[in-house]
Amino acid sequence: MEREEFVFQQAMDFTGGEKRPKMAICYDFDRTLSPDDMQTFTLIPSFGVDKGEFWHESDMLAVDNLMDNNLAWMYELIKYSKFKGKSLRREYFKEIGADVQLYRGVLSWFENVNAYAAERGIDVEHYIISSGLKEIIEGSKIAPYITRVYASSYLYSADGIAEWPAQVVNYTTKTQFIFRIAKGYLEEYDGRVNDSMPHSERNVDYENIVYIGDSATDIPCMTLVKQKGGYSIGVYDPVTNNKKKVYQLFADGRLNFYAPADYSEDSAIFAYMKNVIDEVAAKEKQKSEQKVLSEHAERYKKRTTLEKLLNSSSDSLSDEEREVIKSIIANMK
Ligand SMILES: [Mg+2]
Repeated sequence: MEREEFVFQQAMDFTGGEKRPKMAICYDFDRTLSPDDMQTFTLIPSFGVDKGEFWHESDMLAVDNLMDNNLAWMYELIKYSKFKGKSLRREYFKEIGADVQLYRGVLSWFENVNAYAAERGIDVEHYIISSGLKEIIEGSKIAPYITRVYASSYLYSADGIAEWPAQVVNYTTKTQFIFRIAKGYLEEYDGRVNDSMPHSERNVDYENIVYIGDSATDIPCMTLVKQKGGYSIGVYDPVTNNKKKVYQLFADGRLNFYAPADYSEDSAIFAYMKNVIDEVAAKEKQKSEQKVLSEHAERYKKRTTLEKLLNSSSDSLSDEEREVIKSIIANMK
Protein backbone atom coordinates (compact mmCIF):
# COMPACT_ATOMS: atom_id res chain seq x y z
CA MET A 1 0.00 0.00 0.00
CA GLU A 2 1.36 3.41 -0.96
CA ARG A 3 1.84 6.01 1.75
CA GLU A 4 -0.98 8.26 0.51
CA GLU A 5 -3.41 5.36 0.37
CA PHE A 6 -2.33 4.34 3.87
CA VAL A 7 -2.86 7.82 5.28
CA PHE A 8 -6.19 8.10 3.48
CA GLN A 9 -7.27 4.74 4.92
CA GLN A 10 -6.25 5.88 8.39
CA ALA A 11 -8.36 9.01 8.01
CA MET A 12 -11.30 6.79 7.02
CA ASP A 13 -10.76 4.61 10.10
CA PHE A 14 -10.69 7.63 12.42
CA THR A 15 -13.80 9.23 10.99
CA GLY A 16 -15.77 6.05 10.53
CA GLY A 17 -15.60 6.28 6.73
CA GLU A 18 -16.28 9.48 4.83
CA LYS A 19 -17.73 10.43 1.47
CA ARG A 20 -15.27 10.71 -1.40
CA PRO A 21 -14.17 14.28 -2.12
CA LYS A 22 -16.47 16.01 -4.59
CA MET A 23 -16.12 18.65 -7.30
CA ALA A 24 -18.91 20.64 -8.94
CA ILE A 25 -18.55 22.01 -12.46
CA CYS A 26 -21.12 24.72 -13.28
CA TYR A 27 -21.80 25.78 -16.86
CA ASP A 28 -23.51 28.67 -18.51
CA PHE A 29 -25.34 27.25 -21.56
CA ASP A 30 -25.80 29.69 -24.47
CA ARG A 31 -22.46 30.33 -26.26
CA THR A 32 -20.68 28.28 -23.60
CA LEU A 33 -21.91 24.76 -24.46
CA SER A 34 -24.00 25.80 -27.48
CA PRO A 35 -22.99 28.17 -30.31
CA ASP A 36 -26.13 30.38 -30.20
CA ASP A 37 -29.05 31.34 -27.97
CA MET A 38 -31.21 28.24 -27.46
CA GLN A 39 -34.40 30.02 -28.55
CA THR A 40 -32.96 30.64 -32.03
CA PHE A 41 -32.71 27.05 -33.25
CA THR A 42 -36.40 26.12 -33.50
CA LEU A 43 -38.55 28.31 -31.29
CA ILE A 44 -38.18 31.75 -32.90
CA PRO A 45 -38.25 30.41 -36.52
CA SER A 46 -41.49 28.54 -35.65
CA PHE A 47 -43.19 31.94 -35.19
CA GLY A 48 -42.06 32.91 -38.71
CA VAL A 49 -40.01 35.79 -37.31
CA ASP A 50 -36.38 36.64 -37.92
CA LYS A 51 -34.16 36.08 -34.85
CA GLY A 52 -32.57 39.54 -35.14
CA GLU A 53 -36.00 41.14 -35.21
CA PHE A 54 -37.18 39.08 -32.21
CA TRP A 55 -34.19 40.03 -30.03
CA HIS A 56 -34.37 43.68 -31.07
CA GLU A 57 -38.05 43.85 -30.11
CA SER A 58 -37.36 42.09 -26.83
CA ASP A 59 -34.44 44.42 -26.00
CA MET A 60 -36.57 47.49 -26.81
CA LEU A 61 -39.36 46.19 -24.56
CA ALA A 62 -36.80 45.91 -21.74
CA VAL A 63 -35.47 49.44 -22.38
CA ASP A 64 -38.92 51.07 -22.69
CA ASN A 65 -40.19 49.45 -19.50
CA LEU A 66 -37.01 49.36 -17.39
CA MET A 67 -37.42 45.60 -17.51
CA ASP A 68 -35.11 42.66 -16.94
CA ASN A 69 -33.99 41.38 -20.37
CA ASN A 70 -35.00 37.81 -19.57
CA LEU A 71 -38.47 38.79 -18.42
CA ALA A 72 -38.74 40.71 -21.69
CA TRP A 73 -38.03 37.71 -23.95
CA MET A 74 -40.21 35.47 -21.80
CA TYR A 75 -43.04 37.97 -22.32
CA GLU A 76 -42.32 38.21 -26.06
CA LEU A 77 -42.50 34.41 -26.44
CA ILE A 78 -45.93 34.30 -24.81
CA LYS A 79 -47.07 37.29 -26.92
CA TYR A 80 -45.94 35.65 -30.19
CA SER A 81 -47.44 32.30 -29.24
CA LYS A 82 -50.85 33.90 -28.64
CA PHE A 83 -50.58 35.94 -31.83
CA LYS A 84 -49.75 32.82 -33.86
CA GLY A 85 -52.34 30.69 -32.03
CA LYS A 86 -49.65 28.26 -30.83
CA SER A 87 -49.70 27.42 -27.13
CA LEU A 88 -46.30 27.23 -25.46
CA ARG A 89 -46.38 23.84 -23.80
CA ARG A 90 -43.79 22.33 -21.49
CA GLU A 91 -43.54 19.23 -23.73
CA TYR A 92 -42.93 21.40 -26.81
CA PHE A 93 -39.97 23.14 -25.11
CA LYS A 94 -38.52 19.75 -24.16
CA GLU A 95 -38.99 18.48 -27.71
CA ILE A 96 -37.16 21.39 -29.31
CA GLY A 97 -34.32 20.94 -26.82
CA ALA A 98 -33.17 18.03 -28.99
CA ASP A 99 -32.52 20.53 -31.85
CA VAL A 100 -30.16 22.69 -29.82
CA GLN A 101 -26.68 22.51 -31.30
CA LEU A 102 -23.69 21.85 -29.08
CA TYR A 103 -20.04 22.73 -29.45
CA ARG A 104 -17.58 20.04 -30.56
CA GLY A 105 -16.85 17.44 -27.90
CA VAL A 106 -19.58 18.49 -25.45
CA LEU A 107 -21.29 15.09 -25.50
CA SER A 108 -18.14 13.14 -24.61
CA TRP A 109 -16.82 15.80 -22.17
CA PHE A 110 -18.86 14.79 -19.12
CA GLU A 111 -17.81 11.14 -19.18
CA ASN A 112 -14.18 12.04 -19.98
CA VAL A 113 -14.03 14.45 -17.03
CA ASN A 114 -15.77 12.00 -14.68
CA ALA A 115 -13.39 9.18 -15.65
CA TYR A 116 -10.25 11.31 -15.19
CA ALA A 117 -11.47 12.53 -11.79
CA ALA A 118 -12.58 9.05 -10.64
CA GLU A 119 -9.04 7.74 -11.23
CA ARG A 120 -7.89 10.39 -8.72
CA GLY A 121 -10.56 9.54 -6.14
CA ILE A 122 -12.80 12.53 -6.94
CA ASP A 123 -16.53 12.49 -7.77
CA VAL A 124 -17.77 15.20 -10.13
CA GLU A 125 -21.24 16.71 -10.39
CA HIS A 126 -22.24 18.91 -13.35
CA TYR A 127 -24.72 21.79 -13.03
CA ILE A 128 -26.16 24.25 -15.57
CA ILE A 129 -26.73 27.85 -14.46
CA SER A 130 -28.29 29.57 -17.46
CA SER A 131 -30.43 32.60 -18.32
CA GLY A 132 -32.05 30.47 -21.04
CA LEU A 133 -35.07 28.22 -20.69
CA LYS A 134 -34.88 25.28 -18.27
CA GLU A 135 -37.20 23.00 -20.25
CA ILE A 136 -35.20 23.41 -23.48
CA ILE A 137 -31.97 22.47 -21.65
CA GLU A 138 -33.70 19.50 -20.02
CA GLY A 139 -34.69 18.32 -23.49
CA SER A 140 -31.17 18.70 -24.87
CA LYS A 141 -28.71 15.84 -25.34
CA ILE A 142 -26.62 16.82 -22.29
CA ALA A 143 -29.51 16.35 -19.84
CA PRO A 144 -28.49 12.81 -18.71
CA TYR A 145 -25.12 14.11 -17.45
CA ILE A 146 -26.47 17.06 -15.46
CA THR A 147 -27.25 16.84 -11.73
CA ARG A 148 -29.52 19.87 -11.88
CA VAL A 149 -30.47 22.61 -14.34
CA TYR A 150 -30.90 26.11 -12.93
CA ALA A 151 -32.42 28.41 -15.55
CA SER A 152 -35.32 30.68 -16.33
CA SER A 153 -38.63 28.82 -16.46
CA TYR A 154 -42.36 29.34 -16.77
CA LEU A 155 -45.27 28.64 -14.47
CA TYR A 156 -47.62 26.35 -16.40
CA SER A 157 -51.42 26.25 -16.24
CA ALA A 158 -53.25 23.03 -15.33
CA ASP A 159 -53.35 22.35 -19.10
CA GLY A 160 -49.54 22.61 -19.26
CA ILE A 161 -49.42 25.99 -21.04
CA ALA A 162 -46.78 28.61 -20.15
CA GLU A 163 -48.47 31.50 -18.35
CA TRP A 164 -46.07 33.42 -16.14
CA PRO A 165 -42.36 33.41 -15.26
CA ALA A 166 -41.56 31.01 -12.40
CA GLN A 167 -37.81 31.69 -12.33
CA VAL A 168 -35.68 34.31 -13.98
CA VAL A 169 -31.95 33.77 -13.83
CA ASN A 170 -29.58 36.60 -14.68
CA TYR A 171 -26.29 38.20 -13.55
CA THR A 172 -26.14 38.21 -9.73
CA THR A 173 -29.16 35.89 -9.36
CA LYS A 174 -26.90 33.26 -10.95
CA THR A 175 -24.67 33.34 -7.85
CA GLN A 176 -27.50 32.10 -5.63
CA PHE A 177 -27.09 28.71 -7.27
CA ILE A 178 -23.37 28.52 -6.45
CA PHE A 179 -24.34 28.85 -2.75
CA ARG A 180 -27.10 26.24 -3.19
CA ILE A 181 -24.68 23.77 -4.77
CA ALA A 182 -22.01 24.36 -2.09
CA LYS A 183 -24.49 23.95 0.76
CA GLY A 184 -26.58 21.19 -0.83
CA TYR A 185 -29.86 23.13 -0.51
CA LEU A 186 -30.71 22.52 -4.14
CA GLU A 187 -34.44 23.35 -4.25
CA GLU A 188 -35.11 26.83 -5.69
CA TYR A 189 -37.50 27.74 -2.83
CA ASP A 190 -35.29 26.55 0.07
CA GLY A 191 -34.59 29.61 2.26
CA ARG A 192 -31.85 27.80 4.18
CA VAL A 193 -29.46 28.78 1.38
CA ASN A 194 -28.67 31.91 3.43
CA ASP A 195 -27.92 30.02 6.66
CA SER A 196 -24.32 29.76 7.74
CA MET A 197 -22.96 26.23 7.38
CA PRO A 198 -19.81 24.72 8.91
CA HIS A 199 -17.14 23.77 6.40
CA SER A 200 -17.41 20.07 7.27
CA GLU A 201 -21.13 19.87 6.43
CA ARG A 202 -20.92 21.38 2.95
CA ASN A 203 -22.04 19.44 -0.10
CA VAL A 204 -19.02 20.72 -2.08
CA ASP A 205 -16.15 22.93 -0.91
CA TYR A 206 -16.09 26.29 -2.71
CA GLU A 207 -12.48 25.62 -3.70
CA ASN A 208 -13.66 22.49 -5.54
CA ILE A 209 -16.13 24.44 -7.72
CA VAL A 210 -15.41 25.34 -11.35
CA TYR A 211 -17.50 27.86 -13.33
CA ILE A 212 -17.41 27.95 -17.13
CA GLY A 213 -19.01 30.84 -19.03
CA ASP A 214 -18.59 33.24 -21.93
CA SER A 215 -19.94 36.70 -21.17
CA ALA A 216 -21.11 39.52 -18.90
CA THR A 217 -24.00 37.52 -17.37
CA ASP A 218 -21.35 35.15 -15.98
CA ILE A 219 -19.19 37.78 -14.29
CA PRO A 220 -20.79 37.60 -10.81
CA CYS A 221 -20.43 33.79 -10.74
CA MET A 222 -16.88 33.89 -12.10
CA THR A 223 -15.88 36.46 -9.50
CA LEU A 224 -17.57 34.64 -6.62
CA VAL A 225 -16.09 31.24 -7.47
CA LYS A 226 -12.59 32.64 -8.01
CA GLN A 227 -12.69 34.71 -4.79
CA LYS A 228 -13.68 31.62 -2.81
CA GLY A 229 -10.69 29.67 -4.09
CA GLY A 230 -12.42 27.84 -6.97
CA TYR A 231 -11.74 28.14 -10.70
CA SER A 232 -13.33 30.23 -13.44
CA ILE A 233 -12.87 29.43 -17.11
CA GLY A 234 -13.91 31.67 -20.01
CA VAL A 235 -14.69 30.24 -23.44
CA TYR A 236 -14.95 31.78 -26.92
CA ASP A 237 -16.38 30.52 -30.21
CA PRO A 238 -13.69 28.47 -32.01
CA VAL A 239 -15.11 29.34 -35.46
CA THR A 240 -15.33 33.15 -35.20
CA ASN A 241 -12.24 33.04 -32.94
CA ASN A 242 -13.39 36.31 -31.37
CA LYS A 243 -11.48 36.54 -28.08
CA LYS A 244 -12.50 40.10 -27.17
CA LYS A 245 -14.73 39.07 -24.23
CA VAL A 246 -12.32 36.53 -22.72
CA TYR A 247 -9.38 38.94 -23.04
CA GLN A 248 -11.44 41.54 -21.17
CA LEU A 249 -12.59 39.04 -18.53
CA PHE A 250 -9.05 37.75 -18.00
CA ALA A 251 -7.54 41.26 -17.86
CA ASP A 252 -10.16 42.21 -15.25
CA GLY A 253 -9.14 39.26 -13.07
CA ARG A 254 -12.37 37.27 -13.50
CA LEU A 255 -10.78 34.13 -14.98
CA ASN A 256 -8.17 31.49 -14.13
CA PHE A 257 -8.11 30.24 -17.75
CA TYR A 258 -9.67 30.88 -21.14
CA ALA A 259 -9.97 28.52 -24.09
CA PRO A 260 -11.96 27.87 -27.27
CA ALA A 261 -15.37 26.24 -26.66
CA ASP A 262 -14.14 22.88 -27.99
CA TYR A 263 -14.59 20.18 -25.37
CA SER A 264 -13.01 17.21 -27.15
CA GLU A 265 -10.37 15.04 -25.52
CA ASP A 266 -7.43 16.84 -27.18
CA SER A 267 -8.77 20.33 -26.41
CA ALA A 268 -7.14 23.11 -24.38
CA ILE A 269 -10.07 23.24 -21.95
CA PHE A 270 -9.79 19.51 -21.20
CA ALA A 271 -6.06 20.00 -20.49
CA TYR A 272 -6.91 22.86 -18.08
CA MET A 273 -9.62 20.77 -16.44
CA LYS A 274 -7.16 17.92 -15.89
CA ASN A 275 -4.79 20.39 -14.16
CA VAL A 276 -7.64 21.60 -11.96
CA ILE A 277 -8.66 18.04 -11.04
CA ASP A 278 -5.02 17.17 -10.24
CA GLU A 279 -4.79 20.23 -7.98
CA VAL A 280 -8.08 19.43 -6.21
CA ALA A 281 -6.93 15.81 -5.71
CA ALA A 282 -3.61 17.00 -4.23
CA LYS A 283 -5.41 19.43 -1.87
CA GLU A 284 -7.85 16.70 -0.79
CA LYS A 285 -4.92 14.37 0.00
CA GLN A 286 -3.34 17.09 2.10
CA LYS A 287 -6.61 17.62 3.96
CA SER A 288 -6.77 13.87 4.71
CA GLU A 289 -3.20 13.87 5.99
CA GLN A 290 -3.85 16.91 8.15
CA LYS A 291 -6.94 15.24 9.56
CA VAL A 292 -4.87 12.23 10.66
CA LEU A 293 -2.16 14.47 12.16
CA SER A 294 -4.80 16.48 13.98
CA GLU A 295 -6.49 13.35 15.38
CA HIS A 296 -3.13 12.10 16.72
CA ALA A 297 -2.30 15.49 18.26
CA GLU A 298 -5.76 15.78 19.86
CA ARG A 299 -5.51 12.27 21.26
CA TYR A 300 -2.09 13.05 22.75
CA LYS A 301 -3.44 16.26 24.33
CA LYS A 302 -6.37 14.42 25.93
CA ARG A 303 -4.11 11.64 27.22
CA THR A 304 -1.68 14.03 28.91
CA THR A 305 -4.61 15.90 30.52
CA LEU A 306 -5.91 12.62 31.96
CA GLU A 307 -2.42 11.64 33.13
CA LYS A 308 -2.06 14.98 34.92
CA LEU A 309 -5.46 14.46 36.55
CA LEU A 310 -4.42 11.02 37.71
CA ASN A 311 -1.13 12.25 39.20
CA SER A 312 -2.10 15.61 40.71
CA SER A 313 -5.56 15.01 42.16
CA SER A 314 -5.22 11.39 43.12
CA ASP A 315 -6.63 12.13 46.61
CA SER A 316 -9.93 13.36 45.25
CA LEU A 317 -10.44 10.32 43.00
CA SER A 318 -11.97 7.07 44.16
CA ASP A 319 -10.16 3.82 43.36
CA GLU A 320 -12.88 3.01 40.87
CA GLU A 321 -12.42 6.36 39.07
CA ARG A 322 -8.65 5.88 38.99
CA GLU A 323 -9.12 2.47 37.35
CA VAL A 324 -11.47 3.94 34.73
CA ILE A 325 -8.99 6.72 33.87
CA LYS A 326 -6.12 4.22 33.71
CA SER A 327 -8.01 2.00 31.29
CA ILE A 328 -8.91 5.03 29.07
CA ILE A 329 -5.22 6.02 28.98
CA ALA A 330 -4.20 2.46 28.14
CA ASN A 331 -6.74 2.41 25.32
CA MET A 332 -5.42 5.70 23.97
CA LYS A 333 -1.88 4.36 23.83
MG1 LIG B 1 -23.65 32.64 -22.35
